[in-house]
Amino acid sequence: MPAKLLDGKALASCIKEKIKEEIEAIKSKHNKALKLVSVQVGENPASEVYLKSQRKNAENLGVEYQLERLDQKISQDELIKVIDKLNNDKSVNGIILQMPLPPQINAKLISQYISPLKDVEAVHPQNMGEIVFGSAKILPCTAASCMELLNSIQDLKLYGKEAVIVGHSEIVGKPLALLLLNQFVTTTVCHIATGEKGTLPEFVKKAEILIVAVGKAGLIKGEWVKEGAIVIDVGINRVEGKIVGDVEFDKAQERASYITPVPGGVGPLTVAMLMKNLVEAFKLQV
Ligand code: NAD
Repeated sequence: MPAKLLDGKALASCIKEKIKEEIEAIKSKHNKALKLVSVQVGENPASEVYLKSQRKNAENLGVEYQLERLDQKISQDELIKVIDKLNNDKSVNGIILQMPLPPQINAKLISQYISPLKDVEAVHPQNMGEIVFGSAKILPCTAASCMELLNSIQDLKLYGKEAVIVGHSEIVGKPLALLLLNQFVTTTVCHIATGEKGTLPEFVKKAEILIVAVGKAGLIKGEWVKEGAIVIDVGINRVEGKIVGDVEFDKAQERASYITPVPGGVGPLTVAMLMKNLVEAFKLQV
């Protein structure tokens, strides 16, 4: 039996329905539409798709959306002033600082200036730190999307499962490892050094839950996938004009029990998680 598809699109629309109800309830109780501001420094064609999707999703949910386009040459101090202004603006409930930033800006430092209460992408160290304690209300969107996909599997008990995450970035692999640990999942994180050492297949073969976030098409061979494993492929790669993930899909589907398609798996959920974070941020603000 080929693996069942974990349909991110369908799950995202279910989640958005619920969020829409919450947003409408907030509107009638507080007489206020939620407002999301996205800050984009300079031009970046790769971000345009994400920006469009933010606007479309916000509008569909009745959220006011504003895009602040700033000059490529803006200094760090000037950018901090823009963020400060948004932090102090009571009408603004969520702030996104679009990556990548130009070289004169220290992205790690600047993340600390976004108010943790408006930090809808959970990049502030306080929000990251809350994940360690299992008390985070605002979660990094992609890591949260992976958890939603796992939680959507009926009767899946995470307790005691063995998971392998490939990729240890600050937006996906690292927070996801903590989210899984908080559910008592035995979690291994592999990264570039695992790949270089040549031991990646050994780890992947043991994974009951395999989550891959690298950005290299075909990195994970189908035959490495454990029989019955749950496979979540976060990777987005363009190969011969097509979008593919990091896992050899066809072969992996023959062995796994559940697998995400790429596109249509993790991707559609991330904006839904962003909007969920906006609602959580508002709750923290009031
Ligand atoms: P990143 O570049 O920050 O991190 C890549 C990770 O892969 C690192 O931990 C690195 O050590 C590891 N790695 C690199 N080569 C490896 C190898 N040969 N073996 C094992 N590990 C290796 O990446 P990121 O920002 O986390 O994104 C990863 C992928 O996920 C990209 O394709 C990105 O486009 C995609 N992504 C998708 C979504 C979505 O919404 N679907 C969101 C974020 C990122």
